[in-house]
Amino acid sequence: MKSIKALSLFSGGLDSILAARLIMEQGIELIAVQFVTPFFSYEILQDVEAYQAEVKRKYGINVLVENISPGYMELLRKPVYGFGKNFNPCIDCKIFMLKRAKELMVELGASFLVTGEVVGQRPMSQRRDALNVISRDSDNKTVLLRPLSAKLMPETEAEQKGWVDREKLLAFGGRGRAPQMALAKEYGISDYPAPAGGCILADPILSKRIKRLYAGEFNFGIDDVGVTDIELMLVGRQLLVPQGFFTWSAGGEGDSGFWLIVGRNEEENLRLEGLAEEGDVLFYMEDRSGPNILLRRALGALSAEQEGELFALAASLVVRYGRKIDGGFPPEMVTCKRGETSFKIMGEAPEGDSFRAWNL
Ligand code: SF4
Repeated sequence: MKSIKALSLFSGGLDSILAARLIMEQGIELIAVQFVTPFFSYEILQDVEAYQAEVKRKYGINVLVENISPGYMELLRKPVYGFGKNFNPCIDCKIFMLKRAKELMVELGASFLVTGEVVGQRPMSQRRDALNVISRDSDNKTVLLRPLSAKLMPETEAEQKGWVDREKLLAFGGRGRAPQMALAKEYGISDYPAPAGGCILADPILSKRIKRLYAGEFNFGIDDVGVTDIELMLVGRQLLVPQGFFTWSAGGEGDSGFWLIVGRNEEENLRLEGLAEEGDVLFYMEDRSGPNILLRRALGALSAEQEGELFALAASLVVRYGRKIDGGFPPEMVTCKRGETSFKIMGEAPEGDSFRAWNL
């Protein structure tokens, strides 16, 4: 008889760890896959091998890591099943991952898929009807096994064919975490992340920013939103300057705004420098400590005069967010770096604090 292999979706959360372990306990070879996007688990890409070693050491699980960002960015533009409480398209997200997992399953010669989903645990994606939709739309109705809730659900192929002993699967349901914690203890697993952390699309504050980006409130189209935009969303202080602020603007309602990102410390300043791309301008003072400010993708469609006004505003904010001198913010030369070229303009701090209303 050929040896049976399973592929499990792995998020690093306790449920996905336990689901994988339950299947491994039955003597089945299991490979886990951790998908990453700039919305969750992206930091893993900084050192994939270290992450794989950590998962193996802590939980005994072999994990692959795959970056699914391009397709995911696309999904977010118009998820079929909409959004949850924040900007989280959980049902489409699961379908998308499971479709890719099915392809991987075939590539790796695995026979079925495993997830740590629990009936009734999450309001949007783990209601029974949502779980059915996820299996159906990802084309995984027969091959997707959810070991933690298996006894509350119809048999899947893995049980019917006797690859997995259904009796040893579980009937967890609802929002409580006590059974999971007891099982973790049984397996000797104590070091696992808190539930529901990690996805910024479900974060009430960060998701609001991303929602505005995808709502077209920025001065570039949502088709142009890329991974770097999302990475930038998570750095520093964020300002969206309404076009109505500028003398040349017609000031129409719904006009898109210009995006400025203000570094709040040395680390964020360096990060902004590293993430700057063609079409961005970086502003900073050479002779006084203060922030780097990144003006994102504002060039191209503006006249020299319009650019001048925008640059003057960015430079004024560099001074305003910079170090105080004698209790104030006297004018200072600000460098504007655009690709390989740079020039300087005088930055004069704005009067008053009205710019704070632009905080994203
Ligand atoms: S919380 Fe985030 S990662 Fe989890 S299912 Fe929802 S959108 Fe996907």
